Amino acid sequence: MQQQHIHCIVNDCHYWAQGNKCDANEILVSTNNFAESQPDQVDAPMASQLTPENAGVCTSTACKTYVTKGSGKVNADKVKRMS
Ligand code: SF4
Repeated sequence: MQQQHIHCIVNDCHYWAQGNKCDANEILVSTNNFAESQPDQVDAPMASQLTPENAGVCTSTACKTYVTKGSGKVNADKVKRMS
């Protein structure tokens, strides 16, 4: 299986790791509108069932997998840390 290699500088995320790496086994990038309107349970494990849409500019995209470190919501999305 291919290892993902995602760099991220959002260090209050549960999946963030030293060296500015994302330690999630999978992530979902979406439009901001999608991220704001969908519950935490809608995330990377459901990606193949979701309808793709246009963002237009990079600032209209979001990491849907982001979870605030220590927020108690870390299991809602069914995403796992790799280490
Ligand atoms: S889940 Fe998203 S916000 Fe969190 S570390 Fe990975 S890429 Fe960054």
